[in-house]
Amino acid sequence: MGKTYSPEDIKEAHKATIYHEKDILNSSVCTCFYCGYQFDPHNEKEEIEWWDEESPKGKTIVCPMCLIDCVIGDASGFPVTDHDFIMACTEAWFGGISRISDGKPVERANRPTIIVD
Ligand SMILES: [Zn+2]
Repeated sequence: MGKTYSPEDIKEAHKATIYHEKDILNSSVCTCFYCGYQFDPHNEKEEIEWWDEESPKGKTIVCPMCLIDCVIGDASGFPVTDHDFIMACTEAWFGGISRISDGKPVERANRPTIIVD
């Protein structure tokens, strides 16, 4: 039987998906709660994008696969690799509309091509 998580846990976890640069850099595993991608942020430095560069609270990491800002690292203290936790969060945040809810495999999204002229 899976664990259950309270709505408060889920809400707190959502806060850990933004302005969390320090947590991410202290984590050895991060999970994207939209597409399910798990990665070590130290192995993907080249691929990783950050948003909120100007925020005094810290930058926000963007998932290298789906480009959505819904990533939590294990340094946040949340069980980021626990399947039940991942399901509870993705259901709560995306209303059952995510690649995880759909059971789709992790897949790299196409980056928009930026044309500089
Ligand atoms: Zn993702």
